[in-house]
Amino acid sequence: MQSATGKSILGGIAIGPLCIYQREESVFSAISSLTPEEELARFEGARLKAMEQLGGLYEKALDEAGEESAAIFEIHRMMLEDGDYLDAVKGVIEGQNATAERAVTIAGENFAAVFEAIEDPYMQARSADIRDISRQVVNILLDSGDGEMLKGQPAILAADDLTPSETVQLDKSRLLGIITRYGSSSSHTAILARAMNIPALIGVDFDSSWDGKTAVLDGYSGCVYIDPAPGLLSEMEQRHQGDLKRESLLQDLKGKPNITLDGREIKVCANIGSAGDVNLALQNDAQGIGLFRSEFLYLDTEDSPTEEQQFAHYKQVVEAMDGKRVVIRTLDIGADKQAPCFHLEKEENPALGYRAIRISLTQKKIFKQQLRAILRASAFGTVSVMFPMIISVQEVREAREVLEECREELEDQGIAVGKVEVGIMVETPAAVMIADELAEEVDFFSLGTNDLTQYTLAIDRQNPRLDRFCDPHHPAVLRMIRQAVEAGHRHNCWVGLCGELGADQALTETFLRMGLDELSVSPGAVLPLRKLIRGLDLREENNP
Ligand code: PEP
Ligand code: MG
Repeated sequence: MQSATGKSILGGIAIGPLCIYQREESVFSAISSLTPEEELARFEGARLKAMEQLGGLYEKALDEAGEESAAIFEIHRMMLEDGDYLDAVKGVIEGQNATAERAVTIAGENFAAVFEAIEDPYMQARSADIRDISRQVVNILLDSGDGEMLKGQPAILAADDLTPSETVQLDKSRLLGIITRYGSSSSHTAILARAMNIPALIGVDFDSSWDGKTAVLDGYSGCVYIDPAPGLLSEMEQRHQGDLKRESLLQDLKGKPNITLDGREIKVCANIGSAGDVNLALQNDAQGIGLFRSEFLYLDTEDSPTEEQQFAHYKQVVEAMDGKRVVIRTLDIGADKQAPCFHLEKEENPALGYRAIRISLTQKKIFKQQLRAILRASAFGTVSVMFPMIISVQEVREAREVLEECREELEDQGIAVGKVEVGIMVETPAAVMIADELAEEVDFFSLGTNDLTQYTLAIDRQNPRLDRFCDPHHPAVLRMIRQAVEAGHRHNCWVGLCGELGADQALTETFLRMGLDELSVSPGAVLPLRKLIRGLDLREENNP
């Protein structure tokens, strides 16, 4: 087995023979035997034909990749109408007695070089578009095409690079994936591959001897394997099947409201553990991030993350979610989650120890750093802040005071801050018992059933020996959830659930009947849950 790595353009797995495509170099004479007028007429004919072809490519891209991607070909058409470009071609034909092919190539290269010299990577990537246009006109002049790129069979295409027109012309029903040696992630080819949902890697140093061999393209890790070992192949096949299943669910559900047969609506959001997970949430059409476990920034590091580092991560997630709500939970370390930078002492009962909000309220400098980063990120979308492990009204008030202090400081510094909802995790029996009082202090509750179950049943969630005693459907836990929902609603709080129980499909109907407003689950559980919800009928006559 051989392998190579590259930069992933789109996650996803492709399995099939590798097909190496090599563009044929166009051969033409530089000096024309025709008059400049005749060459200009040849150029004009080819230009008009290229415009017509671009119209066809626009339609195909519109169909397969959407309007934004198809706009590339509108830009190409505009280039072919650009006065400077046309003058440049004319100048070479007249000044050098050149063939139209030669003039188009020289003018295209000169324009591409101008774009390449601009510092902005997006503008640099446009040079490939100009070369693409020139090549198309030259092909028309020579009456030649790109030939059959996939050699007749479904395959993963490998090429030094691909132009947007080559990418769109590929027969998508036979294209399994793309790897290129060159190209940038902002090139239009990359944009098209993403929009067409084709797993793709760039910057892969592939070997010409790999042509025709079985390959696995792992768009998640950025690896391509040639002649994969049987174990790896079957693992990848399984993951690929999982992707296909998710994809078909997605096609069924995308854009459809998340509503039961009798009209009850509920949000299904995703839990994420790092900024890197946000793509998974988007791929699964999550309606928001119901729980962003922010502690990942503090784990495995000796130094606590700076405000700037935290801000950059939060902003990335908030921007990616594009206006959908992102609930950022403040630091929840201690117990099973240890962060070396806090130098926490060993405790007799860590689950009942110095953790979560207790740490934040005693180490205010660190707490403020995090809250400032969250508030700053809130200027870029819809952000809610959530405090973990709350057991008293006093804790909520104290945490809110620190939040207000941070907001005032930022405003004094002239730094933009958005409107931020404030909520708490309801994950202790104490919080459930005083849920009415707590609800008066906040905008929302999120039920943390992992901890709520452990504290209600007095069962350590880390101890596998206790599994047989742990009934997640225990009536005590379900009654706690119901009480919290009812108390929240009495005080106009929305109530979500972000513990593992949210993905337990045996309880979905119960949760809907309780009136939960949101379920937040791991990204992979979002679509199956949405499908289930859309098939439920909660009318009383159907209540078992
Ligand atoms: C929970 O306790 O249910 C929860 C969502 O938080 P964590 O699992 O991070 O403690
Ligand atoms: Mg918890």
